[in-house]
Amino acid sequence: MTMERAMWIDNAHVGPAEGGWIDSEDPATEEVLGRVPAGTAADVDRAVAAAQTAAEEWRYTAANDRAELLHEVVARSMGHLDELVELLTREQGKARPEQEEEVEWALTSLRYYAELGRNGLGRVIPSGEPRTQLNLVLKEPYGVVGAIIPWNYPLLLLSWKLAPALAAGNTVVIKPSELTSLVTLEWVERCFGHLPAGVVNVVTGTGPDAGEALVRHPAVRVIAMTGSVATGQHIASVAAPMMKHLHLELGGKDAFVVAHDADLEAAADAVTYAALINAGQVCTSAERVYVPAAARDEFAEAVASNVAALRLGPGLEAGTDLGPLAADRFRTKVDGHVADAVRDGARILTGGRAPERAGYFYEPTVLVDVQDRMRIMTEETFGPTIPITTYDHLDEVISRVNASEMGLGATLRSSDPAVIKRFYEAVKVGTVWINDPLTDNYAGPFGGMKMTGGGRELGPEGLETFLETKHVHWDLDPTPKEWWLPYHDGDDADVPA
Ligand code: NAD
Repeated sequence: MTMERAMWIDNAHVGPAEGGWIDSEDPATEEVLGRVPAGTAADVDRAVAAAQTAAEEWRYTAANDRAELLHEVVARSMGHLDELVELLTREQGKARPEQEEEVEWALTSLRYYAELGRNGLGRVIPSGEPRTQLNLVLKEPYGVVGAIIPWNYPLLLLSWKLAPALAAGNTVVIKPSELTSLVTLEWVERCFGHLPAGVVNVVTGTGPDAGEALVRHPAVRVIAMTGSVATGQHIASVAAPMMKHLHLELGGKDAFVVAHDADLEAAADAVTYAALINAGQVCTSAERVYVPAAARDEFAEAVASNVAALRLGPGLEAGTDLGPLAADRFRTKVDGHVADAVRDGARILTGGRAPERAGYFYEPTVLVDVQDRMRIMTEETFGPTIPITTYDHLDEVISRVNASEMGLGATLRSSDPAVIKRFYEAVKVGTVWINDPLTDNYAGPFGGMKMTGGGRELGPEGLETFLETKHVHWDLDPTPKEWWLPYHDGDDADVPA
């Protein structure tokens, strides 16, 4: 039996009026799992109106009370953990251990911002008239935040926006991905229902309809969006005339560099994880691998033997390492990148095709003899590929890493401090991992440079994103000042005729 879910607006279910339904599939079986309303601009208007009304009260709810309400979300989520993980796995696809981690990390984000929100980020600065004046730098919520979410980590990336936005005193209208709306509704309905009505709302639907209506709505002053560069560019162009505050976390093309001193077996294990977690559908997946020419064969063979041993399967099946891709169109793109590379001279060591079975699976693929000009080295592949190329000198590889128009992250495997320092100073990316790729630390910012968008999530930066700055000059002495107009003393005899 398939699930049917309504939207969640003002703490109530809202079904489809004009928009009809959107099906959500299990990518491991291609079966329809359920359906959600295809929200329209009218649904967005309704959600934003509810969020605007709620924002008046939420802003004045004590930060300590907001913190307790966010901790209650965590407690409720813990009570529904199994159901959440199961639905997330069925709708999104990746292996169950990775889904468990996703939920755990999403809850960590809530705990972190619940506490950080208690502190506030404003300050009192020394005033120009210290005896009578106060200068207050206030950090206040924007009001209504629009959160537009992708499908690859639907709950985690939602939590990175929702937790700080709420802790900062904003209300939120969420537009989940069309591919992962069921699990988003499940989480919000079950675990955020104790928040006052209108504080958290979900409008499901397509990007061009529901998503764009949210971007266009004049009362939504902040759009926090994670997704592709193309969608981010479009959102920026729509939002520019309204001078909206944009927080964009866009695509990546992360490099993985094996230094001359690196242990090759350990580097092969690290890249297998960095490239293939979530079947390569991570914004920070290692998508370009650089190894010293002399070490290429030994390294590539070690990677290929790791990869050949991995098990493809439905995320819920015990022993699965890699689930399917999220939709058929993503598999077509991955296969196109592999085919182009092979046509241009690359060699497949393992993988390189879709297995014959139901579901959008693609075999994890290791390629060598890859050139920097190939699409698989320049465009985001977002799939289970490990294209390996060679280099000779550190500065050469740094300039090739920096040749990408995107700048999300990069990994270096090395134990040589001089190499490590030169690398992390010179690469133009938002996160550098030395030896342990793709780890997050909630106290530190995450985001990219260049076309990746420049937004920052996590850490105090992730809270600051949802706060506007206001400077208050407060004079406690209301008597007129001697430096005010007029500048003359009132004696007209001084004025030239
Ligand atoms: P996408 O850009 O297709 O969609 C992202 C969201 O934007 C979805 O909710 C979609 O419905 C919405 N959208 C689409 N068109 C819209 C429009 N015209 N107006 C408003 N909203 C619109 O991305 P995706 O396929 O869901 O996710 C994969 C992409 O996300 C990859 O490029 C990946 O690198 C990127 N990503 C980046 C980060 C990061 O932190 N930088 C993290 C995860 C994923």
